[in-house]
Formats: sequence, C-alpha cells, structure tokens
Amino acid sequence: MNFLSRMSKKSPWLYRINAGSCNGCDVELATTACIPRYDVERLGCQYCGSPKHADIVLVTGPLTARVKDKVLRVYEEIPDPKVTVAIGVCPISGGVFRESYSIVGPIDRYLPVDVNVPGCPPRPQAIIEGIAKAIEIWAGRI
Ligand code: SF4
Repeated sequence: MNFLSRMSKKSPWLYRINAGSCNGCDVELATTACIPRYDVERLGCQYCGSPKHADIVLVTGPLTARVKDKVLRVYEEIPDPKVTVAIGVCPISGGVFRESYSIVGPIDRYLPVDVNVPGCPPRPQAIIEGIAKAIEIWAGRI
C-alpha cells in the first residue's frame, strides 16, 4: 500500500445525496456536522461539496421518479471504491412512501448499498455507527 492510500484511510470524505426525502433524515444528518457530541470529524471524516471528492456516500429518501436520473448521475461521479450508506427506512424499503406512484426505490434496485441505517429518522448515534461501519468497509477496499 502506498503512502497516500495509508494516510487517506484515516480521512475519508463524506457526501450526501437527498433522493427525495422528507428532510427528517437530513436534519438528523446535520447533527453529525454541527453538534460536537455527534460530529463525524471525531471519526476522521469530513463532508465535502463535490461527488468527485467523495469516498462514502450517504443517501436519504425513497428515490422519487423525479430525481432518479439526477441521483444516478451524481452517484456515478463518485470515484471507486466508494461505500454507500442508506440512511433511514426510505432508501432501504420506501418507508412510509412505499408503493406510492411517485417512488421508484428502494435504492438497491439501482445501486449497491453497503450499510443500512434503519429508522424514521434514525437517531444520530445510529448514523454515526453506520458511518463507522462504512469507514471500515472503505478502508478494506483501498
Ligand atoms: S425515513 Fe422517515 S424521516 Fe427519513 S426521509 Fe423517510 S419519512 Fe423522512
């Protein structure tokens, strides 16, 4: 393993994709960026603003027909070996929106999911645990 791979194992970038969520999960995710107790920076991570810089992608929402193509396009921009985390029951199963006319998810119909964090919305502690699992998986891939 070269020096860059060794060092980057300690500092993955996180990227969020909202696939049509009600924003409940996104509010919980926001706590992992601004409340010190749950701050993902304690795990060595930081959120980034570009999919091209991301290592771990956090997806919220049930994947609506309206955003599907955009979500898949942005997902493709994230370089391999990426790790995908489904945040909340919506991306996992459709949640309360399951079988609605406007929903095409769950997201594992279209992209591989490595970690599921169930809940509606999941608590910040569960999100942190899911991110920690994702870091382990990612570190094993680089
Ligand atoms: S899982 Fe619940 S809180 Fe999260 S996006 Fe779906 S409905 Fe909203």
